[in-house]
Parts: sequence; structure tokens; C-alpha cells
Amino acid sequence: MLTELPLAAYDWWQRLGFDYPVVWGTAIFAAFAFGACLGSFLNVCIWRIPRGESVVTAPSHCTSCGADIRWYDNLPIISYLVLRGRCRRCHTPYSCRYLVVEALTGALFVAVLLKVGLAQQVPAVLPLYLWCILLAISSSWIDARWRIIPDALTWPAIFYGIVIHGVLPSACGAESHVAGFLYAFFSALIPGAFLALFAIAGKKMTGKDVLGWGDVKFIAASGALLGFPGALFVLLAGSLSGTLYGICLARARKRSLKRCSIPFGPFLGAAAVIWCLAGNWIWHWYLVFSGR
Ligand SMILES: [Zn+2]
Repeated sequence: MLTELPLAAYDWWQRLGFDYPVVWGTAIFAAFAFGACLGSFLNVCIWRIPRGESVVTAPSHCTSCGADIRWYDNLPIISYLVLRGRCRRCHTPYSCRYLVVEALTGALFVAVLLKVGLAQQVPAVLPLYLWCILLAISSSWIDARWRIIPDALTWPAIFYGIVIHGVLPSACGAESHVAGFLYAFFSALIPGAFLALFAIAGKKMTGKDVLGWGDVKFIAASGALLGFPGALFVLLAGSLSGTLYGICLARARKRSLKRCSIPFGPFLGAAAVIWCLAGNWIWHWYLVFSGR
């Protein structure tokens, strides 16, 4: 069967470390299903965290009629399609966010798995990238709607990133657990502290919040999860694209840029996802072009 496949595709699979299409297919399906399940949990976080509700104690319930949602109506993607996006009891339509977040998380999990295999990265980066995807999607959604990036998302990500780097130091090429731990710690601290100073100075000079504390903690979290170059990329690409969007928005609405408030979360989140999917290549090009 393998010989019938184009050689290039087989090369792909081998590079991914899977010799058999069945294994490869199963791994992709498992990654998608795992992502979709966690996406379902993200939907709970996106709804409850900004409203100050617990994400663990109360069981899933319809936000309209309050009916508990049974397990078979709570299957990611499938239940949404079967019930055509409505509550089984009161038939109130649910937001398409439920479907989008679940499918997007699943698809990005598959993309990250393929990328780590293709780029022949150490598997230790996977738990970091996957958490980064979860953080990026939830923060983007909440920031776009509520203009906040909750501490309940950023602090656990900072803590998790530092711990995982300590446990799996090969993720950043460190030789010992202590070195991995210190690398992640300072990758979070330095960009975070720099931005915090920027936020304080900006507030003193303009009397307004030029940067939210949620954004500062998001950058620290991307340092803990993706390392120092990753945090730098998220900061630069996220703030540039966000500012560009702000300028376009101000022009379209014929207002000054100062009077348009832009949620930076979706731009920082998109930059973090791009780094997970192409960071090592971006870093390689940067080193080549800067002549190192
Ligand atoms: Zn209902």
C-alpha cells in the first residue's frame, strides 16, 4: 500500500515518525478530537470567566432555560450539528462560537502536531504549543468581547510554561532541569517587566491606559510557553498588526486614533499561534537576514 503513495507524501509521514498511514490517520484524528474536547472546555471558560462564574463546579447548563445539558448533548461539534445549534428543551439557538471554537481548536492541534513532526522538533515542545493555542483562542475571544484578558487565563499559563520547561528542558534545548526552569522564568519576566514599565510610563505621560495589564501578562505567558524569541515576536507582530488595524478603523470611522480603543488580545493571540506554527522558520530567517 505504501508503494502506491507518492514518494513525497511518504517522506512526510516518515518525517512525522509514523510509518503507517493508519497510525498517522489515527494520530491526526486523536489530535483533532482532543483539541475539540478542550475547545468545548474553552467555550465554558469564555462564557463563565468574564462573568465571575466557576468553570469547574457547576455542570453544563443552557444559559437560556437553565436545563442541565446531558453528556450526549455535550459532545464537541457532533452535538451542535445534531441539535442544529439549539437547546434540546427550549430550542433557543446557541451562539455559533461553540462550533467555531471547538473546530478551530481541533484544527490547530492537528496543525501543530504536523508542524512539530515536519520541522523535526523535539516532542517536548508539544505540551507548550498546545497550551499556547488554548490561551490564544480564549484570550482573543474574551478580549474582543469584554476588553479584558483575565488573570485566570494568563497566570496558569505562566506557571505551566515555567514548570514544563523545568520538567522537559529539551523543549528549549537546555541541558538541565534548572536551566530549563530559569530560561522560561526569565523569558517570562524580562518581556513582562519591560512592558509593565512601558504601561506605567505611558499612564504617567498620557494620563490614560496605553496598555492593559492583561496584555502585559499575556506577553509574559508567551515568554514562559514559547521562550524569549517567541515573546519578542508576539509583542512585535501583535502590536504592529493591532496598531495597523486601529489606524484603519480610525480612518473608516473618521475619528482620531486616540478615541478608538482596540483590543490587542486577538492580535497577540494570532501572533502566538503563528509562532507555534512557524516560529522556528521565522527565527531561522531572522538569523539568516541579520547575518548570524
Ligand atoms: Zn434551553
